[in-house]
Amino acid sequence: MATPGPLQHAHHAPQYQDKGGIPKSKRKLQKHLRSAGLAYISRTGKLIPAKKVADELCQCPHKCDASVPLEARRRLFEHFYGLGEADLQNQFLRKHMDLRARLNAPTPPLTSSTPEGGGGSGRPPRRITCKYLVPLLPSEDTVEVCQKAFVSAFVITTKRE
Ligand SMILES: [Zn+2]
Repeated sequence: MATPGPLQHAHHAPQYQDKGGIPKSKRKLQKHLRSAGLAYISRTGKLIPAKKVADELCQCPHKCDASVPLEARRRLFEHFYGLGEADLQNQFLRKHMDLRARLNAPTPPLTSSTPEGGGGSGRPPRRITCKYLVPLLPSEDTVEVCQKAFVSAFVITTKRE
């Protein structure tokens, strides 16, 4: 007596369907490569070269370049791309951008006003300043740099795709 055995042994060779696009696994790899600062092929098929440590951070009068030694740049670079995930990297960047609204900046009195007045005429414009801090790894110290230097130090662009 033949018992109905498991005859359903379909030949299911794992086939990746290339339905006009990059397979999911590949896209994930791309994303990883990109986050890791390695070379990858962009969605448009362009080869994006691997990131490398910037030789020069900026050319501004503050000489940010001099405040971040090459060794610190390398460490920073390794750390940042070692994170390997865009989310973590964004977090890291945000931590080093000190965004603050300058509310109590001393403003010279333009007109003599009564001390108790508090009349709401001519409110000072709310100024937002952003400080860019580059960590001098492995220490906890940070050094303030201009935006250009910050962007160069992390080898990022201000444009977010
Ligand atoms: Zn600078």
